[in-house]
Amino acid sequence: MSEGKKGISLLVKISIGFILGILFGFVIGPVVPNSSVLSNYVMPFVDLVGKIFLRLLMMIIVPLVFSSLVAGAASVGDIHKLGRIGIKTLALYLVTTAVAIMIGLACGNLFNPGIGMNIPGNLQASAREAKPLVDVILDIFPTNPIASMVNANMLQIIVFALFFGVACIMAGERGKKISDFFENAAEVMYKVTHMVMSFAPYGVFALIAGTAAKFGVSILAPFAKVIAAVYIGCIIHAVLVYSGMISMFCKRSPFWYFKGVQEAAITAFVTRSSSGTLPVTLSNVRDNLGVSEGVSSFVLPLGATINMDGTALYQGVCALFVAQAFNVPLTLQMQIGIVVTATLASIGTAGVPGAGLIMLTLVLTSVGLPIEGIALVAGIDVILDAARTCINVMGDTAVCAVVASSEGEDLTN
Ligand code: ASP
Repeated sequence: MSEGKKGISLLVKISIGFILGILFGFVIGPVVPNSSVLSNYVMPFVDLVGKIFLRLLMMIIVPLVFSSLVAGAASVGDIHKLGRIGIKTLALYLVTTAVAIMIGLACGNLFNPGIGMNIPGNLQASAREAKPLVDVILDIFPTNPIASMVNANMLQIIVFALFFGVACIMAGERGKKISDFFENAAEVMYKVTHMVMSFAPYGVFALIAGTAAKFGVSILAPFAKVIAAVYIGCIIHAVLVYSGMISMFCKRSPFWYFKGVQEAAITAFVTRSSSGTLPVTLSNVRDNLGVSEGVSSFVLPLGATINMDGTALYQGVCALFVAQAFNVPLTLQMQIGIVVTATLASIGTAGVPGAGLIMLTLVLTSVGLPIEGIALVAGIDVILDAARTCINVMGDTAVCAVVASSEGEDLTN
């Protein structure tokens, strides 16, 4: 999930690990029952490598999410100064993100990518299914934040981190010291994440090899369906939500908007980084849409950090895919849980390649889905990342244009 040459080669390595793992599994699968060497030594070792990778991923989640959310919430510090613009921006970011996940869930429900895969997993979900909605809501609020961290209760950690981050702003100079500390801690955790991700090609190889060996060629079609669901969902979101917002609030044609931001959209697609695309996004919005510097320099950097519609949509599709693949019945409550967690997770997702995949672990854990599901999507993540980053960036530009028009700016460029 790093930028630059290193990141690209890592993603290529993960894809190679994924393809080799599938091939290895297909070839070795039918032979395993007849070979004691394979079943007693090779497969258990492959299994071990996969399990170590999963543990390392889980190891990162709590400190990474806490530190990056505190830093993220504290960085919205200017919101008090920017008042009206800030609230409008945040509200639009949250609403568009929640809509994106719902479109993701709808596309997932349409394509049903994981149905029939029947992968046996750790069914953490069953215990949670029966909870009444009021308890689910109550459960979001921690009684003891340290216990929430020990138990990796993600929603509770998120709630506490948001309170903590906002309090850092309110505490002025002293709070700044604390939020700087967490900003540094988040940076260190990104480095830990990079270290763990450098092991990903092997982990992905091992996990997918085990699955392919057990289930054979029947697992190929589901991947094509996940890709189709994410891409179609992204197109629907851009066409319905962004075009709708532009024509309704800016009174401009969607073509004017799409043409104006096409460079940023293409850059996001190829770099898979909203942060990396920011300079192009800023210049497109200012030069082609005519948004002022005042609005764009607040709305866009904030969006590149917290507004990830594409990532949220992808998390909706993937959560559903994992639930179906592992045969976990997704109740309405769990789907609501996905909307809430994926909205929050997308806020905490860094605008760099592959960050959404790490945050998917958060969504899966929070709703009680097996974390092994990460291995299923990791190999096709590059393809999914391109589309979701493009939508992440377009989402920032659409909100920026709407906020600018609501402030009376004349978008006539
Ligand atoms: N690559 C995405 C972005 O930069 C984040 C993600 O991986 O979802 O916007």
